[in-house]
Amino acid sequence: MSRDIRGEKIVVATHNQGKLEEISALLVPLSSEILSAKELQLSEPEETEDTFVGNARIKAHAAAKASGLPVLSDDSGIEIDALDGAPGVYTADWAETSRGRDFNVAMRKVHEMLEGKDAPHPRIAQFCCTIVLAWPDDYEVIFEGKVEGKVVWPMRGKRGHGYDPIFQPKGYSITFGEMNRWEKNKISHRAKAFEKLFRYFTA
Ligand code: IMP
Repeated sequence: MSRDIRGEKIVVATHNQGKLEEISALLVPLSSEILSAKELQLSEPEETEDTFVGNARIKAHAAAKASGLPVLSDDSGIEIDALDGAPGVYTADWAETSRGRDFNVAMRKVHEMLEGKDAPHPRIAQFCCTIVLAWPDDYEVIFEGKVEGKVVWPMRGKRGHGYDPIFQPKGYSITFGEMNRWEKNKISHRAKAFEKLFRYFTA
């Protein structure tokens, strides 16, 4: 292994407080000093790529260059087979409304598109998460996690966030929206990507 982050300052490339808290909690065993792109007042680059890894790389490298520190970024979303992988990297965009993000709107859109296509059941989908760790000299390491499942309707459960109420992971009879955080964090796409990161730095 050529780089280590244990005991180093790490910047998390996000301006989203919820994401920062979730990622900081996961990073505690590796780093005692976690900073955010927001507190360093780094600008948010445009996510112009059409892959999770492409957008995660843009965010990580821009912040590493601007801060002079190692940076962790992530990009995630849901891919639905019957919609040819949509919404994919546009997962958050599907929730945009004139009043801000509304994930009920996004979930209804998914359902209506699937119904419009008369998509067969089960409506297979996967949540994907890509983590990029980048250094100011362009060195990078990449970790990916996925969880398979199906899209269900109507929405079920008030826990979690985003599309959780319509995603039922394979092998379970409840949705992510019905699962407690502990259960979800054992099997989620983000948990799997972070597990790989931990193994990389602690093996
Ligand atoms: P980004 O990674 O910040 O670009 O956001 C991706 C979008 O994917 C989020 O806004 C959520 O709507 C959705 N998403 C990612 N992970 C999850 C999850 O674990 N549950 C539900 N929705 C998720």
